[in-house]
Formats: sequence, C-alpha cells, structure tokens
Amino acid sequence: VGIAQSRDAHLGTRMADLTAARETLQRVFGHSDFRGLQSDVINEVLDGRDVVAVLPTGGGKSFCYQIPAMLRPGVGLVVSPLIALMQDQVVSLRAAGVAAARLDSTIDREARHHWLSAAREGQLDLLYVSPEGLFAQGFLDFLEQCPIALIAIDEAHCVSQWGHDFRPDYRALGQLADRFPNVPRMAVTATADLKTQADIRTQLKLEHAKSFIDSFDRPNLVLSAERKSPKSQDRIFDLVSARRGKSGIIYAATRDNVEKTAANLQAQKIPALAYHAGLDAGVRADRQHRFQEEDDVVMVATIAFGMGVDKPDVRYVIHADSPKSIQ
Ligand code: ADP
Repeated sequence: VGIAQSRDAHLGTRMADLTAARETLQRVFGHSDFRGLQSDVINEVLDGRDVVAVLPTGGGKSFCYQIPAMLRPGVGLVVSPLIALMQDQVVSLRAAGVAAARLDSTIDREARHHWLSAAREGQLDLLYVSPEGLFAQGFLDFLEQCPIALIAIDEAHCVSQWGHDFRPDYRALGQLADRFPNVPRMAVTATADLKTQADIRTQLKLEHAKSFIDSFDRPNLVLSAERKSPKSQDRIFDLVSARRGKSGIIYAATRDNVEKTAANLQAQKIPALAYHAGLDAGVRADRQHRFQEEDDVVMVATIAFGMGVDKPDVRYVIHADSPKSIQ
C-alpha cells in the first residue's frame, strides 16, 4: 500500500507539473498543446532527470528546455554553437515576455555584468552561452554560485566527430556532469545517427539518460540518388530549371566547384549565389540575407552554409558531390 500510495503521489506530481507546463505553453507562447515527444521530454526534466532528445527539425526542441527552465527554480543554461541561433531565440523569448539573455562575444562588459547578476539572483529564466564562453576563465566557478534550473546542450551532435558539425570544444562539456551533479542535463539535436547518439552519451556523460527519439519519417520529403554524369553541370541546370522560381540549396564539396556551379547557373539566368568559407564575412552575410529574404534564390555552397539558417520554404537540396555520409 505504501508503495502504491507513493506511486500515486508521484503520478499526481507529474500531472501537476505537466499541467503547469501546458499552461505556460498556452499563456506565454500561445500554443494549445504539446506535440510529438515534447511532453515526455519536459516531464523527465521537470522530474530532475537527464535526457537525450533527437527530434526532427521543426519538432519544437526549444520548448523542451525553455519551458522547464521557466518552471524550475534558477536559470536554464543553454549551450549553443552559433551566435545567430542564440540571437533568434533570445529575441523571440523576450518578445514573449520571458527573462532571457545571451553572453557572446558581441555583448559588452556592462551588459554581461548585468545578466550575470540577474542569473545569480534568480531573476533570469534562460541564459545562452557558447561552449567557448562557458569555459572562459572563471565562468564555471561563477555558475556554481547560481541557482541552475537545467543545462541544455543544443545541437549536441557537435560533440561527435561522426556528426557533420564537429566542434572540438563541445567535448569538454562532459565536465558539466561533475561540476553540476544535481542539475538535470539535456542533449538536444535534430541530427544524430546511432554512432553519433552513442558518442553524445559517452562524451557528455549521459549514459544513464533516457532517450527520446522522434520519427524522422517526413512524407512530404522525397530522396533520390543517381550516378554522377560527366556532364554534371548540365544535369544540375536541368534539375534547377525544372524548379525555377523556387528556393533551393546546392551543396558542393569544394570552393572551386561552388564557384563553378554558381557561375554556370548565373550564366543561364538563374539567381544563384556562391557561399563558402573563403568569402569575406560581409559578402557571406549579405548572400545569406538575400537567400532568406528572396523567394527564388539558389544557394550554391560548401557545408559552411546551412546551420542556423531558419527558412521555411527551401524546396530542394542537391548534393552536386556525394556527401561524406548519406545521413
Ligand atoms: P526545432 O528547434 O526542433 O527545429 P523549434 O523549437 O524552432 O524547432 O520549433 C519550430 C516551430 O514550431 C516554432 O515556430 C515553434 O514555435 C513551433 N512549435 C513548437 N512546439 C509547438 C507546439 N506544441 N504547438 C505549436 N507550435 C509549436
């Protein structure tokens, strides 16, 4: 009877937690209910446990950590690899009235000081940092004095050399397990094959964490592969012109091939832009902006392009050279 009662009590707490989470989703973000695995992930974190969540793009990963961060006492620390991703999230959280901030290289000393005090005093719901920022001198010591609701590691596939965005400094994030043993930690990503998932667990010391892996079946997406012909530029042009006026991305393996492919399309009146790490930062920012704002731009790029680009109407992706992994 004792066990049954405590189980009932536990169930009751879980339901109350989820009710509060749903209420937050409705009141703050204006959505009627959770979808997919969101409520399961949120429940687990509200119960104080670690999780690994692999949810497809658009699956709503952000609420999985934002809402528990708002409900649990203390600040939710979000480790994110890209300033652009942090900016987008902080802007939309603030617009919804959530106390959120980011610490990155563009934030001046005064603002930094302000947000750190707010975090220490429990007045901040979410604080975004880059992994480099996290390991900057004295920052972890400072965090140990703050009430922390949770630690979310966004784009967790960056931890793995099998993932396509490997960031060596992500590896050090495993230290957080020892530094903050009582804080629930979350690894969140949209892209992790089995090898990468295993790497995430080991590197981030999340071996014991429950996994939440949503279906990646997207009936509206079609994949096809064909042998590369010697006239691959003509083939690319055919594929693109059959989709004229639509926004697309063409990935090529080298800067050279990026330039060549973009030039070939431009010569045939396709609004194509080249993008690779060899271009000036200003030129890259300008081209990314055009791609996002205009309806018909074809971006020809190396894998330097793509992460953190939030565009709802990309209609096709062509890999002009075979990618390193089919995944
Ligand atoms: P991901 O990071 O997984 O790609 P996001 O967290 O950016 O996804 O969410 C994608 C979009 O879906 C956002 O516009 C978000 O507001 C919306 N969204 C997320 N969860 C829900 C939900 N439960 N109901 C309605 N819209 C949602």
